[in-house]
Amino acid sequence: DKGNIVENDSQTTENKSIINDEITERKIDSVLSLMTIDEKIGQLVQYSGKWDATGPSSSVSDQYKNDKLKNGEVGAMLNVSSVASVRETQRIVMENSRLKIPLLFGYDVIHGYKTIFPIPLGESASWDLDIMQQSAVISAKEASASGINWVFAPMIDVSRDARWGRIMEGSGEDTYLTTVIGVAKIKGLQGNDLSNSNTVAACAKHFAGYGFAESGRDYNTINIGEFELHNTILPPFKAAANAGVATFMNAFNDIDGIPSTGHKYLQRDLLKGEWNWPGFVVSDWGSIGELIAHGYASDLKQASEIALNAGSDMDMQSYAYEASLKELVKEDNVALSLVDDAVRRVLRVKFHLGLFDDPYKYCNEEREQNDIYNQAHLNVARDVAKKSIVLLKNNNQLLPLSKSLSSVAVIGPLANDKNTPLGNWRAKGEYNSAVSLLEGVKQAVSKNTKVYYEKGVALTIPTIKPGENQFSTPIEFNTNDTSGIRKAVEVAKKAEVVLLAIGEDAYQTGEGRSQVDIGFKGLQLELLEAIKKVNKNIVIVLMNGRPMDIRSASEMVPSILECWHLGSQSGNAIADVIFGDYNPSGKLPVSFPHHVGQEPLYYNQKNTGRPYGLKQVTYSAYRDAPRFALYPFGYGLSYTTFKYDNLTLNTSEIKVNGELEVSVNVTNVGDREGEEVVQLYIRDLVGSLVRPIRELKGFKKMMLKPGETKTVTFLINSETLQFYSVNKKWEVEPGDFDVWVGGSSKAELKERFSVINE
Ligand code: BGC
Repeated sequence: DKGNIVENDSQTTENKSIINDEITERKIDSVLSLMTIDEKIGQLVQYSGKWDATGPSSSVSDQYKNDKLKNGEVGAMLNVSSVASVRETQRIVMENSRLKIPLLFGYDVIHGYKTIFPIPLGESASWDLDIMQQSAVISAKEASASGINWVFAPMIDVSRDARWGRIMEGSGEDTYLTTVIGVAKIKGLQGNDLSNSNTVAACAKHFAGYGFAESGRDYNTINIGEFELHNTILPPFKAAANAGVATFMNAFNDIDGIPSTGHKYLQRDLLKGEWNWPGFVVSDWGSIGELIAHGYASDLKQASEIALNAGSDMDMQSYAYEASLKELVKEDNVALSLVDDAVRRVLRVKFHLGLFDDPYKYCNEEREQNDIYNQAHLNVARDVAKKSIVLLKNNNQLLPLSKSLSSVAVIGPLANDKNTPLGNWRAKGEYNSAVSLLEGVKQAVSKNTKVYYEKGVALTIPTIKPGENQFSTPIEFNTNDTSGIRKAVEVAKKAEVVLLAIGEDAYQTGEGRSQVDIGFKGLQLELLEAIKKVNKNIVIVLMNGRPMDIRSASEMVPSILECWHLGSQSGNAIADVIFGDYNPSGKLPVSFPHHVGQEPLYYNQKNTGRPYGLKQVTYSAYRDAPRFALYPFGYGLSYTTFKYDNLTLNTSEIKVNGELEVSVNVTNVGDREGEEVVQLYIRDLVGSLVRPIRELKGFKKMMLKPGETKTVTFLINSETLQFYSVNKKWEVEPGDFDVWVGGSSKAELKERFSVINE
């Protein structure tokens, strides 16, 4: 089976969705020529339909917004999300405004609209680009059936700090993995043609560096060198621009003192200049106004001047541009040509979406009835969810369980939780609509199996009521009610196997949800300890939005399934894996630490000067903890075993622009069919900058029958080998490279090759 060539084509993908075509540009010229300055500024304004920003500048009445809509002085809305309300809002503009320029309707569709897929970090563990693209197709279909034409996804912030609450929204710690997943998501959301009414405009966010918030504290400053910024944070954004993403969102954080929203180099020079990207940049919520809080602008007017000049095109909820841009233009502090350029970019997206042809094209009541939360979509949600599960530990092959086992105890605060699996940012996912673990198990086992259930302990003390704004309510953990533990122990005693569902509440991760303690909150470990005394056959079913500190729990049990927040079909998908209908194939997109003190933690570290030599260091930098992860990046077990051998290079020397093939044999040596993610890592041994000890550069997920061997071939070329060098450009430096292929970032099969000058 040759020909399984994985090419790193994400960086070179042609920009198909949003382009500068002559006809559209001429249409934009003619619209622009008719517009007053107020109408132009209006296109750069986005209002929320649901709730308002707090802060010095942002509270306005509904009447004010309505008047602005009528005057054609609003370009986009967010949080308006039903055909009826979109139709009504669009109608205000179409029937009252002079130029009748249709509105964009944006929404946070982060992991599904009403059919909820795994949180992005969880889905990334599938390493299955096709299925991730498919879930994006469905998300777009459902959102667009509800009147929405623009979604604020994907989040492609590389993040290496488990304390950061928003780590759940991205693809984890690795630049390459984040890059290819981001491109798959954009393709899924936008399709090949933005004007299709089943698809939506996507948004690459947050530009840039938000995932590197110092100490994992949300919104915090980031300090990063220029080279690391280019090598680690920017590649997913460059690939998104190349893939034709329609919009970018900037970020709340400052980078080395310059707030992203006011970052001229990033937005104007790099994104719109060097990368020549034709879409528009929306600010993050209120981030133009936040330039004041940063101490980077003294008032809203100066904030507008800085943001517009830096290339922030649309003002989301700061009410800054509408208040000051006109005067700034008059005073010559903002060039009219820059305003025109911003408006042109917004109009370009509207033209490509086809809104000028039909402003109501996303307002289809029939589609709203039929295309949302239907069985076909739920089936895909189950498929994605089971592929996202990672088997972390399985001593004595406790898993999979037989469906006809005599008894099973489903225990824990999350065991019958129908809400937590929906995770944070669940868009229109309905409260308590997920399939719980208990429901999934009951559905799967034989009639004769006895299923016991006990909650044991509550994780949180309920403070958020259905429908309440989750941003404003802090979570309270249960630290004293142990009354349920005794009952849990009773059922654990009676059962063959215990499935213990513990981890994190849906709202422990997400925006503004950073934590210093990433262990089990509340009394969950006490519950585990009590159960362990009466039954050793425990499977931890971990539900969480971040890598957790699970070391002590991990030592206590034979089996652990990492089940994230898996979405609508959570319980069914977990049962598929527990009872062996699906052989787990997920791999961690992020390192699990031995201790929170290791954070930020990632596999692609750089060597220090010690110990001497170019070894892969194995010694610890700490006196009280290992240096590397408990469960590393790329790791995940299967019910079968894969053997790697025969790693070969078709040549041991290439020119800087040459290419080489790496192949390896992978054999399923177990007795069960299974999927393996074959991973390729490289190391540039000597560079003009210190290079990571290994870096993921390709992967291929494939199915192998028992006894079957497949030869997997990867292509290595200048795209694989280049980095942003000391010369401030992407280039391949001659010298020696190591290459590994295997089933995790700890892969041991290694070869070496050299790159020589042309
Ligand atoms: C978040 C964005 C989100 C926006 C709109 C902000 O608080 O940072 O990711 O898209 O709100 O809801």
